[in-house]
Amino acid sequence: MARVFNFSAGPAMLPESVLQQAREEMLDWRGTGMSVMEMSHRGKEFMSIAEEAEADLRELMAIPDDYAVLFLQGGATSQFAMVPMNLLRDRRTADYINTGQWSKKAIAEARRFCEVNVAADTADGGFTRVPLQAEWQRSADAAYLHYTPNETIGGVEFQWIPDTGDVPLVADMSSTILSRPVDVSRYGVIYAGAQKNIGPAGLTLVILRKDLLGGAGEEVPAMFNYAVHAEAGSMYNTPPTYAWYLAGLVFKWLKDLGGLSAMADINGRKAAKLYDFIDASAFYSNPVEVASRSWMNVPFTLADDALDKRFLEEAAAAGLHTLKGHRSVGGMRASIYNAMPEAGVDALIDFMREFQRAHG
Ligand SMILES: *Cc1c(COP(=O)(O)O)cnc(C)c1O
Repeated sequence: MARVFNFSAGPAMLPESVLQQAREEMLDWRGTGMSVMEMSHRGKEFMSIAEEAEADLRELMAIPDDYAVLFLQGGATSQFAMVPMNLLRDRRTADYINTGQWSKKAIAEARRFCEVNVAADTADGGFTRVPLQAEWQRSADAAYLHYTPNETIGGVEFQWIPDTGDVPLVADMSSTILSRPVDVSRYGVIYAGAQKNIGPAGLTLVILRKDLLGGAGEEVPAMFNYAVHAEAGSMYNTPPTYAWYLAGLVFKWLKDLGGLSAMADINGRKAAKLYDFIDASAFYSNPVEVASRSWMNVPFTLADDALDKRFLEEAAAAGLHTLKGHRSVGGMRASIYNAMPEAGVDALIDFMREFQRAHG
């Protein structure tokens, strides 16, 4: 069996060495005679797995001590609701930046709970750029400001961190977390579904400043209350144990690689190669403003969309899978998360060059 280069936006590729280790430990984790899947989450074996994963994540991201790390379920989509449920307190307004499909979903969910002030919106230009902070129209009394550092569908990424002063900054980092170093202290809340850059689906990471705990009202269900999960060490109920374990293996893989600055060097190189190739070609194009291009998700179109189907078929035959663009934008999208080897990007570029030669 040959593994393919899988450009899926999520669930996405995992490092091969992580999958191999999981396979080796599948039936018997370190002499326990059990799979991690079969362990009590309160037993000392799983507790050690859980604690090590958190410690490794804290080290990788240099998470300050006054931040809690939660290993939850429900995906980033649940966070669209948990954020307002926990952070509004007695305020009625929150600021949101709308840079694409995921921002829009976060905004729609927040509207169930509060007045949403869309402080900047790039829908007019077809979501092809990040709005400069000078353009933002923030409200005076926002409980927090929410943005999407990387729009997975549009391939639009902030290459800078907004400055919101005392207003907590909330980020949906689902598709960019761990892709490079980040100054966690600039954020109130960072959240991410795991299935892009962390591990398998089913786990959701939340990193939040501890002074933001305790803001949920009495009516908020326990499972939606950050403070409940923080107090219980993410074990208020049964956590997604196997996904937590696999995330831990991914964190070790990142540490062995040299941490997030080493990862950033590789990711920067992968993205630059692909964009350079696209920009130099008259056959392929990417609509995103250069300064706002994503390192992780690279949408592109062919000069003639009648060739799309053929492109996808021939790519798959060449071992390059899941390149179809999101249904809302069409064309192609190459997701090149941490686990996509540089050789995968090289193979994609070679294939694109050859396809252009044959059909361009
Ligand atoms: C994938 C994704 C989501 C949705 O995540 P789920 O885990 O499916 O809820 C939300 N935001 C962004 C930026 C994403 O990439």
